[in-house]
Amino acid sequence: MTPEELRAGLDAWIGREGEPSVARDAVNPAMIRHWCDAVGDENPVYTDREFAAKSVHGALVAPPTMLQAWTMAGLRPPAPASAGPSPLGEVMRLLDAAGYTSVVATNCRQEYRRYLREGDLLTVSTRIAVVSDEKKTALGIGRFVDEEMIYRDAAGEEVARMTFRILKFKPPVAPAADVAASTSVAAKPRRRPRPAQSHDNAFFWQGVAAGELRIQRCTACRALRHPPGPMCPHCQSLDWDTIVSAGLGHVFSYVIAHHPPVPPFSYPNAIALIELDEGTRLVSNLVGIAPADVAIGMRVRVEFTRVDDELVLPLFRPDPS
Ligand SMILES: [Zn+2]
Repeated sequence: MTPEELRAGLDAWIGREGEPSVARDAVNPAMIRHWCDAVGDENPVYTDREFAAKSVHGALVAPPTMLQAWTMAGLRPPAPASAGPSPLGEVMRLLDAAGYTSVVATNCRQEYRRYLREGDLLTVSTRIAVVSDEKKTALGIGRFVDEEMIYRDAAGEEVARMTFRILKFKPPVAPAADVAASTSVAAKPRRRPRPAQSHDNAFFWQGVAAGELRIQRCTACRALRHPPGPMCPHCQSLDWDTIVSAGLGHVFSYVIAHHPPVPPFSYPNAIALIELDEGTRLVSNLVGIAPADVAIGMRVRVEFTRVDDELVLPLFRPDPS
């Protein structure tokens, strides 16, 4: 297919709305309550009928950002009612055939026309708004695809709109020498992933390198915080320094991961949320204990563990003392 033929093939689907799909449930207080619980949203206008009645809304409303929850198809979506081609499916098929076989989501934007109320039954239709010309990106040569979802109520009025942008790209082809090298690396256990370091958390990793577990402290209100961030969540101050933790704490919670096994970790893998005696919590691995013996409340002490020639991590060991 020539680039011109591909462009024409894509353009034939742009702007066409696919078959609408109807939400499984109307907007209802039970789903709203579970969602607010999960994200920690305590605004009573979503959950307290009496409070909501006296608010500007006059009745319970749904959190706007819950939009997608209403129309998600579930884990085992039924077969589509119509067997007709979907614009999204056809555009993906054309891009795959042209070699843009990899995909990454790059942006999501939602616009809300009005609050959703109890009983609203939503329908969502999808159309492809844009397929860009070929762009060179850090991931490879690709095309951006803007998928637009239009949400309507039972009367057919638009209540919200979401634009979801993906990049469909051609996976870079490694030179033959690199392929040989990566094959030989693949035969060995993979290295532990490197922690993502940024301006905000550099102090933490510098501390680890110096054998210190550092905790960020707001210099305005003295509140400690972790994970690191630029602003105090209590008083919104941007000023901070650090303290050095004594490295003692307890297992606040944990999970034992069994599947899928990802090298180089060994399984079952005990991943713990440690609450330091200073009050902040961090996620780490436990050493010196069988996963089956991990218990909530167990006292632990930090151990700066060299996991390979480049990486030291603050792991935790049971500390009965
Ligand atoms: Zn503060």
